Amino acid sequence: MFDLIVRGGTLPDGRVADIGIQGDRIVEVGQIAAEAGRVIEASGDLVSPPFVDPHFHMDAVLSYGLPRVNASGTLLEGIALWGELRAVATVEEMAARALRYCDWAVSMGLLAIRTHVDTTPDHLRGVEAMLEVKRRVAPYLDLQLVAFPQDGLYRSATGRQNVLRALDMGVEVVGGIPHFERTMEEGAESLRDLARIAAERGLMWDVHCDETDDPMSRHVETMAREVTRHGLGSRAAGSHLTSMHSMDNYYVSKLIPLIAESGMCAIPNPLINITLQGRHDSYPKRRGLTRVRELQAAGVTVGWGQDCVLDPWYSLGTADMLDVAFMGLHVAQMTHPDEMARCFRMVTQDNAAVMGLQEYGLTPGCIASLVVLDAGSPVEALRLRPDRLAVVSKGRVVAEKRRNDTRLVLPGRSDTVRRRHP
Ligand SMILES: [Zn+2]
Repeated sequence: MFDLIVRGGTLPDGRVADIGIQGDRIVEVGQIAAEAGRVIEASGDLVSPPFVDPHFHMDAVLSYGLPRVNASGTLLEGIALWGELRAVATVEEMAARALRYCDWAVSMGLLAIRTHVDTTPDHLRGVEAMLEVKRRVAPYLDLQLVAFPQDGLYRSATGRQNVLRALDMGVEVVGGIPHFERTMEEGAESLRDLARIAAERGLMWDVHCDETDDPMSRHVETMAREVTRHGLGSRAAGSHLTSMHSMDNYYVSKLIPLIAESGMCAIPNPLINITLQGRHDSYPKRRGLTRVRELQAAGVTVGWGQDCVLDPWYSLGTADMLDVAFMGLHVAQMTHPDEMARCFRMVTQDNAAVMGLQEYGLTPGCIASLVVLDAGSPVEALRLRPDRLAVVSKGRVVAEKRRNDTRLVLPGRSDTVRRRHP
């Protein structure tokens, strides 16, 4: 007797299996004859481990238009707008926006999110709000918080001190933004400093690194060196790395092996960077996405991050990690069937590895979190970005949606249409 059985679903690797759940654990995967308190029929549907987002900004989420929209569409105008908003945002208002977004995330089967929290203002209200949200959603959604010195570790007078204060308050990942420091030298120094802080405290490290079109923005080189020096390995991640798009190929042929040697992960954010980058170009216009396939070929773990939803940097977004993978697939031209399947893995398993999530997956002993999608395979899920028919978090059904085929009214044709394709 199980508490819950998800029956007959197709797993991402193509196997068809029942999943037996007891309490908050998966206890059996295969053909299950036993009864259960509750059964979810998933025959013909894709059953996946939950979606994971390793790069987000929840303190700014759903603030689009406050205090006004980003007219130039650039990263820098976005930072300036956020500077105005964070000065007046209250803990309650930030927490309310974040909680509303967490509802969206759960409905889309997105059950683990790493969010950067701006530690620039001395009031640290954002940190206070996000710690409260993390506590509130913990029963069903795992939030990982990054102490993020948005205005620079040294460029803002209390930047460094506030990162340390946030870590003391319970934020568990060290951030950084070297390309926004005053000089390349100070950017490099900030990386040495932050790597030491992460190593000494035994924390993970995730840096907004080289989010620029400048081919000479080469902080990732310093970052990889520091990751190797302190042995941080996969506990470190370089987010964005967009300057790698514009770098000289010879230089990159030296750089990628150094990144691989360090063991650090990479987190490109395709929805945002296809929008923000190349804004100073006429034509041809650069895509501004890092070299995903080349990093993967060198053995680097690369995840897809969402970054923003309805905020000063991005005016759209739905908490759907399949939208993120869909954009990444197009911009990185990952169109081979193996690469498309890889894109699905990136927003599930690879992102879980980037965040260091334990007991994640669909094998016995794993935490019983999963999502049932109205699609037959991972690639079809990317094509359709379909309804999430059921979402289970830590053994509990937390979201459900009825299958919703379109009714057709056409003479001589079938009366419903569902855009599945065998
Ligand atoms: Zn970001």
